[in-house]
Amino acid sequence: MAKNVMYRRQLSALTSKKLTDASSIIMSTFHAKNIPGITGAIEKLIKIPSVSSFDSSLDHSNLKVIETLHDWFTDLGFTVEVFEVPNHPGKFNLVASTGSGPDGLVLTGHTDTVPFDEGKWTQSPFELTEKDQRLYGLGSCDMKGFFAFITEAVRELDLGKLKKPLIIVATADEESSMCGAKALKPRYPQLGRHCVIGEPTSLKPVRMHKGIFMEGIRLTGLSGHSSNPELGRNALEGLHRVISELVDWRQELQNRYQNPAFEVETPTLNFGHIHGGDNPNRICGQCEMHIDLRPLPGMAIDELREAMHTRLSHRLQDSGLQIEYLPLFDGIPAMETASDTAIVKAAEALTGYTAEAVAFGTEGPYFNDMAMNTIIMGPGSIDQAHQPDEYLALDQIKPGIRILQEMIKHFCF
Ligand SMILES: [Zn+2]
Repeated sequence: MAKNVMYRRQLSALTSKKLTDASSIIMSTFHAKNIPGITGAIEKLIKIPSVSSFDSSLDHSNLKVIETLHDWFTDLGFTVEVFEVPNHPGKFNLVASTGSGPDGLVLTGHTDTVPFDEGKWTQSPFELTEKDQRLYGLGSCDMKGFFAFITEAVRELDLGKLKKPLIIVATADEESSMCGAKALKPRYPQLGRHCVIGEPTSLKPVRMHKGIFMEGIRLTGLSGHSSNPELGRNALEGLHRVISELVDWRQELQNRYQNPAFEVETPTLNFGHIHGGDNPNRICGQCEMHIDLRPLPGMAIDELREAMHTRLSHRLQDSGLQIEYLPLFDGIPAMETASDTAIVKAAEALTGYTAEAVAFGTEGPYFNDMAMNTIIMGPGSIDQAHQPDEYLALDQIKPGIRILQEMIKHFCF
């Protein structure tokens, strides 16, 4: 009974949302289970396939990973809530918290991995293999291994002395739709103040990344015999106008937006795919192109999409062609956390590295959108992520645990 009361009090401190949807919540049961040491914990997580993919034949539920984390964090004394991501059956998020009050520290990661090319692995992706001072396995560095770092860091700390809450978040489907991260805000208006996403950055802090926006553009005209252009409306010629308009637009964006923190300092727009027509002696009736735009922080995806649509409609006004837009995926916003925030300052002081900008997208913008200041900083190298024979170098383990402990002490004790 007392435990139940405490559970509810902690939970209401964690979130102002009432527990109306009890069916989706697995209550903590405070049962004791042994948590393996860090290598054993990584091994256990690697053994549970949790691929996320838009291709349903490759996609797995992440429930077993979430259940494992539920048991470990319960065992460590956290209050643990698990919920199924709305409209994504079989996909779950976990939020574990200890301590109460505002301004907590959130440590977070995703529980899914990318699919893998079996023929290209020299050992099983789901067996942890230790060799050459490395731990090989799918998700070892990107990033199920990060949860083992957290359990190892936390178990040596006296959580009874926390002055500010410590919150662990494990999400679903970062590698595909990011539905897990997106589902957090409606449920938790604010989870904490400071946030670390443990994506592999070789333990160097990152506070900026570009966004990703991909769209298909389809033009439909009318096919006819090539000998008389009056017989049709040529979609391929319309696409020539579209490309020229987008090249102009790209130049304008690159003149207007630059950020020297990035290796490529300007936003980019890539023409990646084109397909249309059939025969040289037919007027091209339909044509489709796919583009990839990488905006800098400060460039909103919705505004870019709208600006592009307005420009292209205008350019095709008298063409008689029909234009359709095919969003290829929702896109990921760019992320920027201010250089003078407490989390950036603390991470820089601890690691000795100035927070930098990277070229890959993360769940960071969704956490920043929950009134948090977020950095990306975790063990392992991004060079090994999404690669056959993904590994975590053993020399990341000690400093990785130490950095997490110091961050927790700095923000929560
Ligand atoms: Zn990742």
